Amino acid sequence: MPVPTSPPDISDEVTFARYPFLPQAAAWIRQMAIDHQIDLDELLDGVWMEKARQRARIRLVDSINSSEGVEVIGGDIHTEEGRIIEAFSFYYARLVVCASEDERLIARWAQAEAARAEQLLIKDKSSIDIIARTYISQIKFEENHGLNNPMMVNASGGLRDMRKSSSGPLWKIGLSDFIEICPKITGSRWRLPNCDIKDGWITLYEENQYGSSAKLARLLRERIKRGVEAEALEKMQDVTTDLAIRLAEPVGMLRNLMASKTSEAIALVGAEESEWPPCMRKIVGDLSNGVNVNHFGRLFLASISATIGLPTESTVNFFRGAPDFSESTTNYQVSHVYEHAYTPAGCAKLKVNHNCPVLPGDDRLCDQPWLDHPLKYIRATQRWNAKNKAAEIASGVPQNNTEDDKPLENESPDSAEKV
Ligand code: SF4
Repeated sequence: MPVPTSPPDISDEVTFARYPFLPQAAAWIRQMAIDHQIDLDELLDGVWMEKARQRARIRLVDSINSSEGVEVIGGDIHTEEGRIIEAFSFYYARLVVCASEDERLIARWAQAEAARAEQLLIKDKSSIDIIARTYISQIKFEENHGLNNPMMVNASGGLRDMRKSSSGPLWKIGLSDFIEICPKITGSRWRLPNCDIKDGWITLYEENQYGSSAKLARLLRERIKRGVEAEALEKMQDVTTDLAIRLAEPVGMLRNLMASKTSEAIALVGAEESEWPPCMRKIVGDLSNGVNVNHFGRLFLASISATIGLPTESTVNFFRGAPDFSESTTNYQVSHVYEHAYTPAGCAKLKVNHNCPVLPGDDRLCDQPWLDHPLKYIRATQRWNAKNKAAEIASGVPQNNTEDDKPLENESPDSAEKV
């Protein structure tokens, strides 16, 4: 079931400022821009918008640095100035990621904004219903357990604490919406055979560790992320050269942050990452950039990490940037893979499951006919590096291990060698 084409009316300005990505917020923000003479020049360079730009930078930095998304606490949205700052900080941040013309950055930022919204919605009893009806075609609830119905439930701590049951309403979602959203969420509670389906509705039951509203907020996060990302990708097409030049400084800051985050993740295990196959490097890079790597790719990463002897903590760290990262779940799953010594998948399966990033001609080693397993890639690269080192010691001349130096057919691993 698609997102509703006509979202319900919202007129509350606090809600717009808190959730500035809402489709209903666009007209309000336009009107604010007219009323307060906020044009593009003002937004990019004006004194009045300086606070919005500062807040936007926090939003952007959080989107790279924090696994729980953009910091929930912003300005005071119960004042008009606070609402303007909050709303325009979102707009400025979106301009910056659009100007980067980097789809990974856009995806990461959309993910962080959606994760922030999830945290807010878990607590926001007054808005979750109308926001749910904005993004989900079939949604309803029953009052449950004598709710006190506070406007905002007090909860502090991390996302996991927030998700604990708060005896709120019992939400039900249409089967089609659920089926469309859930493949993107990991965990057995989101698999259809584990759900209670009646007359085309799925009840989001309360669990001690996961309240009904928290489950709804988790589902909404997926739709919000998709909406924020799609809108940013559309606006990316409108970025002019002039705008890109004017935003070069914040875009550069963001790109550097992202690059350092990726290399940090890869450097967690020391120097030997140069020997990893492209598929492994790609999955590690994607996870650190907040990409929702599929289950097959995740299992491959955990199993190859175990096989090459990386510590479990390093492997858990690879997953920290994942959009659905949970310390306890990842620890459990990674430990399980280590204990059971799963054999990492071969190239054929990785290709079928869209986890092989190379095309013919991209990597000479992957192009070799005998290269049918990523562990062979590692072994061949290790042998080649060792040869280079020996030659270097013997000749005293540094050997450049460039792409063209990669081992070829006659250097294939022993055919009897098992992977
Ligand atoms: S060809 Fe094999 S080793 Fe190379 S990237 Fe693809 S899956 Fe990995």
